[in-house]
Amino acid sequence: MPVNQLNAFQMAQTQFDGIAAKINIDPQVREVLRYPAREFRFQIPVRMDNGKIQVFFGFRVQHSDARGPAKGGIRFASNETLDTVRALAMWMTWKCAVADIPLGGGKGGVVVDPSTLSVGEKERLCRGWIDAVWHDIGPRVDVPAPDVGTTPQMMAWMMDEYSKLAGHYSPSAITGKPLGVGGSLGRTEATGYGVVDTIREAMKHLGMKPEKTIAAIQGFGNVAQYAAIAYIKELRGKVICVSCYDRNDQVSYTYSRKDGIDPIFLQSITDQYGTIDQAKAKDAGYTAEEAEAWIAKEADVLIPSALEGQINSDNVNRIHPRVKIVAEGANGPVTPEADEELKKRSIFDIPDFLCNSGGVITSYFEGVQNDMNYYWDHPSVLRRLDQKITKAFHDVLETSLERNMYMREAAYTVAIGRVVDAMEWRGWI
Ligand code: GLU
Repeated sequence: MPVNQLNAFQMAQTQFDGIAAKINIDPQVREVLRYPAREFRFQIPVRMDNGKIQVFFGFRVQHSDARGPAKGGIRFASNETLDTVRALAMWMTWKCAVADIPLGGGKGGVVVDPSTLSVGEKERLCRGWIDAVWHDIGPRVDVPAPDVGTTPQMMAWMMDEYSKLAGHYSPSAITGKPLGVGGSLGRTEATGYGVVDTIREAMKHLGMKPEKTIAAIQGFGNVAQYAAIAYIKELRGKVICVSCYDRNDQVSYTYSRKDGIDPIFLQSITDQYGTIDQAKAKDAGYTAEEAEAWIAKEADVLIPSALEGQINSDNVNRIHPRVKIVAEGANGPVTPEADEELKKRSIFDIPDFLCNSGGVITSYFEGVQNDMNYYWDHPSVLRRLDQKITKAFHDVLETSLERNMYMREAAYTVAIGRVVDAMEWRGWI
């Protein structure tokens, strides 16, 4: 099958197979890691506001718990499938391992467009998700968190439902909670800030001056918003565009402004589902261009921070010759074919599970704070995040330089090596 027709799980397996062969992972171990350890697929009947029951389908996949409890977000998306969740669960295993946090990989999902639900319906769906799987998750088993389409409020309902069923307050059963119900300072901006921490290190390595650089960002969800803010605040660079899906027009737009975008202003005109108010943006001097205009911008750094498969064989040739770094804020944004092209062009790629690991690193900190029932201040969280992700970046860079490997391959080498090591110590292989 041509690689561009692979679904997300086949893509995750292809990446894994390629690197496993290259670094000589025992074929029996490969067979274990190619598939998730456990999968749950369940129905969630929800009483809707009109009094009728609607059945939703939910998933939770635990790919590996060799290094610790499975960990990973829950997506609410209308095109969610068991295969997308499997892929994302596998990527979480590598993400936690590369970040060197004592957690495994998991992911969950519900087939739903959350913008079609009322607040009450959302709450009942979240509680229903927990009712269906609470026996198989928990602080020492598998810890969910937010992802595309889910929010801290939803995590609070889920934590509450889990606590009620468990019979005791269990904040560390779910991370990404709001402050005040066991959330951590810094969790909201963690993924975007972490993305920029890795870009800063890549620029040091490549000898680039951050304040002279331009970034083009795809997306304007949680990751993209804080990556834009940190790029301007921490690196003093310019962000030339972001993009977003417009729910009213049902298409995506790239919003750009010649002198650079102002992410705080754009946040103030973005609704809770990530749609930027087009009229207000135009009034403020922004141009709304076609969806993929972001990829062709004359920029030094591309930060795809939306969904998987966004840089692919159809558009990879549109990348401007000036681009030196692709920093993968999203999970799986580059298809294997496009990846070959990036390699050929010697673009420095910061692979997703390294680049966007700031979210789960801070989720880990959240769980640690919950368990000791003592909470760190904001600068302490961001400092620890920076230390952890910078160390992860250099572990990967070192491997890449020592073994003459592309960054993605080096990241897999580090991550798979750590997982296999845990499996060996535990006597599983
Ligand atoms: N959903 C985020 C991710 O893909 C965070 C996961 C977590 O915090 O457990 O990394």
